[in-house]
Amino acid sequence: MNLSSMRIFDGGQQFLHSLLRMNFTGLSGQIQFDVDKNLVHPAYDVLNIGGTGSRRIGYWSNYSGLSTVTPEVLYRKPPNTSVSSQHLYSVIWPGETSIVPRGWVFPENGRPLRIAVPNRVSYLQFVSKDRNPPGVRGYCIDVFEAALNLLPYPVPRVYMLHGDGRRNPVYNEIVQAVAEDRYDAAVGDVTIVTNRTKIVDFTQPFMESGLVVVAPVKEVKSSPWAFLRPFTFQMWLVTGAFFLFVGAVVWILEHRINNEFRGPPWKQITTIFWFSFSTMFFSHRENTVSTLGRLVLIIWLFVVLIINSSYTASLTSILTVQELTSRIEGIDSLASSNEPIGIQDGSFARNYLIEELHIAESRLVILKTQQEYSSSLHLGPNRGGVAAIVDELPYIELFLSASTCAFKIVGQEFTKSGWGFAFQRDSPLAVDLSTAILQLSENGDLQKLNNKWLTHADCSEQVNEIDHYHLSLKSFWGLFLISGIACFIALVVFFYNIVCQYRRFTPEDGAAAEEGEIQLARPRRFLRSTSFKKLIDFVDMKVDTTKEMIKRKSTDIKRQGSPSSDGHAVSPS
Ligand code: GLU
Repeated sequence: MNLSSMRIFDGGQQFLHSLLRMNFTGLSGQIQFDVDKNLVHPAYDVLNIGGTGSRRIGYWSNYSGLSTVTPEVLYRKPPNTSVSSQHLYSVIWPGETSIVPRGWVFPENGRPLRIAVPNRVSYLQFVSKDRNPPGVRGYCIDVFEAALNLLPYPVPRVYMLHGDGRRNPVYNEIVQAVAEDRYDAAVGDVTIVTNRTKIVDFTQPFMESGLVVVAPVKEVKSSPWAFLRPFTFQMWLVTGAFFLFVGAVVWILEHRINNEFRGPPWKQITTIFWFSFSTMFFSHRENTVSTLGRLVLIIWLFVVLIINSSYTASLTSILTVQELTSRIEGIDSLASSNEPIGIQDGSFARNYLIEELHIAESRLVILKTQQEYSSSLHLGPNRGGVAAIVDELPYIELFLSASTCAFKIVGQEFTKSGWGFAFQRDSPLAVDLSTAILQLSENGDLQKLNNKWLTHADCSEQVNEIDHYHLSLKSFWGLFLISGIACFIALVVFFYNIVCQYRRFTPEDGAAAEEGEIQLARPRRFLRSTSFKKLIDFVDMKVDTTKEMIKRKSTDIKRQGSPSSDGHAVSPS
């Protein structure tokens, strides 16, 4: 201010003194000035002006701050300017609402929001040019419009196509243009990637996305050894061993009482093998007569039943599902090869493959349309095509649903991200739209829009790994354990019986005269004098013969009136 040009008029001092001496109550209250020339007890009404008139919602004074009580009353009380005592009556805002507005005004100076929309030439379902207003259409546009409808304020907008319509635009450029204020926002299939989040603000993703590999698949010719595939090598080994083991156990349990398990050694060995493996088909002809043998066999037949049905199920799935296979198994095998890789025009995938996976730029082939996708995959790397395509899942799902089942997604989705709407840094719209997108997703509208625009056919499932169909020992060890325990218990019981019988059979070996002495001395003598061969011979003996011999011995003993004291053992044979 040019204060020096001000002049003091005549009588100015006098006027100042008159003002300072003033003391009266006017329309706005008391008028009086203190020595510092400040108004004494200044006070104001706070008015809410709206519609046709105004209403007082409180007062303001230096002394008390905002209050609903007149300052004159407050001047008589001690000063209290704490936040909790600052009250006004509620404000009625334009629109006859008492909800406080957000304070963000759209648009700035009446200018509608400039929204960049990629002018796509492939996968037009996501976003494309439209002859009718608003000039653009597609899944992303519908999601954006639906989200805007959920905002409590209107957002005037104008959609501006980015791209010449002959190729997909470079999406990084669109995001850059938003950051440079050439647009206010970008709406479309824009992937949220780190480099972009550094310069713009993204909303929450409205679509899940991630990079996948698509490769041509061919039918596998059935291998002559396909029947071996259901089980792992270990499983085959253990199963085979268990067949023989159970056969041997049943032979031991049956040998003494069952004529079918007796005969010359060679015949018995063939019986064991034949019996073992015929249980595989439940077609064993030999009768099992001993209780223990039956116990072992019934548990084993249950195990065989489970193994058989698992084998059948697994073989069926190998022969039906695993018909298709691809030379490329996933991103790792693709990256380590030297073959050309197809990528979508304008996509961030190019940078990702070069910078993150260190794939040579010369290997990347830009594909502009869906037709180029399928023709270059059909041609293959040797005839100027590509070995595989790396692109985001939503595009690939559409591509696969429209193409024949000659291509498949191989391996896993190797990046996880999503598509979001891009706004300039710190735009409150990004936050509000994020909430709106979450609302759309929670109330199911997002899925409805998805179903409207994007249809998926059956051929999009993954090529399954062969390994999934191998049944390993892990799935069956419980069964083998049960069968093994049954065999063990049966053998223990069997040998206990044998030993008991053997002890009853051997008293004629005894040399002691006294019955009591025999009882005590028998075990020791038994251990000392019985050769292993004798025991084996006893085990090998048919049970009827043993019983007969024991009976004969006991009659002899009875007849002699005392236990045998010959001092030599009778050979069991
Ligand atoms: N979603 C891709 C991106 O944001 C664009 C795909 C395309 O090039 O059409 O980079």
